[in-house]
Amino acid sequence: MSKEKVIAIPNVATPSAPVVFNPDICDGCNTCVEACQIDVFIPNPEKGKPPIILHPDECWYGGCCVNDCPRPGAITFKWALQHRGYWKNKATGEVHQI
Ligand code: SF4
Ligand code: SF4
Repeated sequence: MSKEKVIAIPNVATPSAPVVFNPDICDGCNTCVEACQIDVFIPNPEKGKPPIILHPDECWYGGCCVNDCPRPGAITFKWALQHRGYWKNKATGEVHQI
C-alpha cells in the first residue's frame, strides 16, 4: 500500500455549484463520482458523507451524476447561471425558472 499523502483543495472562490448534495439522504456511495468523466468530485474521506466538489467550473452539465444516483433527492442538478432559462406566462404573469 502506498504511503503517499494526497491533499485536495476545493475551488471555493467560484460561485458555480453544478450540483447540491443533501447530506441527510446521500450515503456516500460515490456512484456519482464514478459517473463523472470530468472528475468534478472526489470521494469524501469521511465514509458515508457526500462527495467533495473539487472542480465545479469543469462541469459539462450533462447530468450523468444525478441520473445515476440511486438515492432520489441526494443530489440536485443546478444549471450554470448563464444557462438558466426564465419565462413568463402571459396570461397569469407567473414567472418560471428551470
Ligand atoms: S453534470 Fe456531468 S460533468 Fe457535471 S458533475 Fe455531473 S457528471 Fe460531472
Ligand atoms: S449523491 Fe447519490 S450517487 Fe452520489 S454519493 Fe450520494 S447517494 Fe451516492
